[in-house]
Amino acid sequence: MTQVTDGIHWFKLPMSPEEPDRDHLNVYLIRGDKGYLLVDSGWNTDISFNTMHNHLIKTGVSFGDISQIVVTHVHPDHYGMAGRIKQLSGATIAMHRREEELIESRYIHLDGLLHETDRMLVANGVPYDEMVAMRDATVGMEKYISPAYPDIRLRDGDTVTTGEFTFRVLWTPGHSSGHLCLYEPDKKVLLSGDHILPKITPNISVHPQSIENPLGRYIDALKEVRKLDIELVLPGHDEPFTDARRRIDAIIEHHIQRNLEILIALQHETKNTYQIAREITWANGTEFPDLPAFHKRMAVFETRAHLDMMTTEGNLDVLPRKGVIYYRQR
Ligand SMILES: [Zn+2]
Ligand SMILES: [Zn+2]
Repeated sequence: MTQVTDGIHWFKLPMSPEEPDRDHLNVYLIRGDKGYLLVDSGWNTDISFNTMHNHLIKTGVSFGDISQIVVTHVHPDHYGMAGRIKQLSGATIAMHRREEELIESRYIHLDGLLHETDRMLVANGVPYDEMVAMRDATVGMEKYISPAYPDIRLRDGDTVTTGEFTFRVLWTPGHSSGHLCLYEPDKKVLLSGDHILPKITPNISVHPQSIENPLGRYIDALKEVRKLDIELVLPGHDEPFTDARRRIDAIIEHHIQRNLEILIALQHETKNTYQIAREITWANGTEFPDLPAFHKRMAVFETRAHLDMMTTEGNLDVLPRKGVIYYRQR
């Protein structure tokens, strides 16, 4: 059975188009009186679509029974198939306005964003020969997206109702500027998207479209969620889990440690983001030069998120030099 708690079905879909055997992009189907609510959608690939279709058949639900789709954020794994499901079902699509604003530049007309990414990588000290691969690392992914604009724009504090569930919309910026979680206070269930994951530390980056000081905003949003009474977290990846507070504390602790690591890297000299990123040990103990281009880009932009947070908090000075930004401990 795919039912994870009464009325909520959990479907595991392929994690990425390149690695279709790696599952654990999670979507949730929630029972209603006049149709089902689907939270997130998976990539728009045949294997993802067929996996979703098989899950629906086993659950006794057809595409036509889906009446609402909530997209936690428009990253391709969560949003890719939303347009296709809408076409099949006539469901409404709901998301935060800030996510809607990302759709065109990421999935329809990409040139402007590539140019901005290019400039941002250079300003963070990335050498030109590495920059091109990092900039272009996600080009081509747009073919796995069936873009669709929202019918409903959700805001913090709105409610999304389906059957016996009344979810409160939580705006949780950081991982993406318009990231949303859904919280059901009576059932004590949180659908956390990529805001809180059980194993991976969600990627928080400064990039051309990020919110100001995304890591600071992210940690503030984690602290808000920490106040809630939660018994079950249904995340966007990996397995559902119960102890939300412990996981939130661990994620915050990770970021505090990383801030310290960066301060140590800046102890004796000023450095740019790229130079600092090269000194940090990344996931699974990987050194920066061994990361694939996309992960290098994430590493640089994640490092920059830490630098922006510490700059905002008054711990660092920013020193522009020949078009590259350098940082110095205060
Ligand atoms: Zn994401
Ligand atoms: Zn994700």
